[in-house]
Amino acid sequence: MSVAALIGLGGNLGDVRVRLEAAIDALGAVPGIAVTARSRFYRTPPWGNVDQPDFVNAAIAVDTSLDAHALLDAMLSIERAFGRVRDGERWGPRTLDLDLLAYGAAVIRDERLDVPHPRIPERAFVLLPLADIAAQATLPGMGRVADLLARVNVAECRVLD
Ligand code: ATP
Ligand code: CA
Ligand code: CA
Repeated sequence: MSVAALIGLGGNLGDVRVRLEAAIDALGAVPGIAVTARSRFYRTPPWGNVDQPDFVNAAIAVDTSLDAHALLDAMLSIERAFGRVRDGERWGPRTLDLDLLAYGAAVIRDERLDVPHPRIPERAFVLLPLADIAAQATLPGMGRVADLLARVNVAECRVLD
């Protein structure tokens, strides 16, 4: 059985766009993961800790036969392969961040996973790319992506061409 999942991608160190493209290819190469849609790329201001470079963000949809934790494991191992170092600073600069935004209609809350990702409603940098590929999707407990996007400030976000 396969599940449709939504993944957010971001980074702000080095040539992020090239790295995000490569990370999408790497995800698609994992047995049990097929990439079915990809958003445009966006330049977005940093969030949380604002004293760092702008981010590039994107989102993809996948069909997967992996359970949510196995999908997270694959995402974390791709982050490591692309040079992600976790130094303990929350929301600091990073080469690659892959967040599991939604896993079908599942609600998962355990020590490793919060799905749907709890901070989606407050993040233009997630909602803008997500709306490219899933504007009409309803996130459990949160509502429609298009409605959530209408409530955030996108003024400082730019589509990259
Ligand atoms: P944020 O979650 O606010 O976007 P972040 O992406 O910087 O912050 P990380 O350091 O990348 O946070 O992730 C820390 C841990 O969060 C991961 O090791 C993972 O176990 C956990 N986690 C919980 N829910 C999710 C999710 N939906 N997607 C990805 N990781 C998650
Ligand atoms: Ca994140
Ligand atoms: Ca993350």
